[in-house]
Amino acid sequence: MRIHEHTAKKIFQGEGIPVPSSQLVKTPQEAEKAAKNIGKPVALKAQVLVGGRGKAGGIKLVDDLSQVCETAEELFRSKIKGEPVKKLLVEEKLDIKSEFYVSISMDRSARKPIVMASMNGGMDIEELARENPDKIVKYYINPLEEFLPYQAREIARKMGVESSIIPKVGSIIFDLFKVFKKYDATIAEINPLVYTDEGIMAADAKLIIDDDAFYRQKKIAKIENIPKDEFAYVKLPGNIAVIGNGAGLTLSGMDMLKLFGGEPATFLDIGGGASEENISRAMELVISNEHVKVVFLNVLGGITRADDVARGVLNVLKASERDVPIVIRLTGTNEDEGQRILAEAGLSFETSMEEAAKKAVNICNSMG
Ligand code: GDP
Ligand code: MN
Repeated sequence: MRIHEHTAKKIFQGEGIPVPSSQLVKTPQEAEKAAKNIGKPVALKAQVLVGGRGKAGGIKLVDDLSQVCETAEELFRSKIKGEPVKKLLVEEKLDIKSEFYVSISMDRSARKPIVMASMNGGMDIEELARENPDKIVKYYINPLEEFLPYQAREIARKMGVESSIIPKVGSIIFDLFKVFKKYDATIAEINPLVYTDEGIMAADAKLIIDDDAFYRQKKIAKIENIPKDEFAYVKLPGNIAVIGNGAGLTLSGMDMLKLFGGEPATFLDIGGGASEENISRAMELVISNEHVKVVFLNVLGGITRADDVARGVLNVLKASERDVPIVIRLTGTNEDEGQRILAEAGLSFETSMEEAAKKAVNICNSMG
């Protein structure tokens, strides 16, 4: 899960990393006000989750504060690599003397966090690796030992930065590892880390949280406004909602549907071991989509229990105002109990995915 720059900066700052003063805004008028508060030239930065935002036109430097409103308006109207701009970070413009690169990421093959750092920041790491591979310092952190400040300073020294700033750059690398560890990150990156007359600070902040650890990063979910359900959910142009447990099964369900001439309205993977409540929420989500004519629920219970699925479905049907036909394929763990619950409620079910897909398409076609 990638985190927005403004949230990442708050987190970095919380662990001691200096960041420029800034304010998050939602309208051009707010941008103007924020710039007035800052009182000097500003950078307007689109809060989008795409890389290479600057090059794609997502960052505008404004020297004349009377231009802030207009420039912000332009940004709010634009899309950066397809992503609409809903928020801007209004940040003091920096007088940059040099740009460094510092990141900590998980090296899966080494099974260790790796620090990568370079005196030549600003460009992305791929470009850096192409153009100046020998200018990148790589340092593996032993996860079984404590990472110590002198090791971080050693990295700063190897980067080749001026000796007077080695302690500061070192402490930022040290603090960045605190972020990495505390927030279950797979990537924590500062690019550029800038050297200005006012000191050294993170001009940009990138933070990606390990999806499998997201459940324990509630603070981030709250700031970023991320809903609790972690469904993999994609809206599609068709009219049959496909819900499955596991991405592979959900995709096969979609394939099967297409095979019989149906068009999926959703890809919704409820994941492994979804609870009764989760299944209810998934059902509610697709039923609330007015393009959905039929729901095709495709469950092969492993960790997910068929009886939980059956109960989750019934709860929604009882409460729902819309009467959407549901075709259920239900097998796997606790299937007898699950099927019994459905049968008792007068709901039919299939055990073969193929039969269920065919039935969903037929019902949909018969509705015209
Ligand atoms: P990114 O394109 O999403 O990585 O956005 P960055 O925040 O890293 O900004 C891209 C580039 O804008 C930086 O590498 C700087 O060279 C340049 N830049 C120029 N002035 C400023 C400034 O005042 N603040 C920031 N953040 N970047 C600036
Ligand atoms: Mn950047």
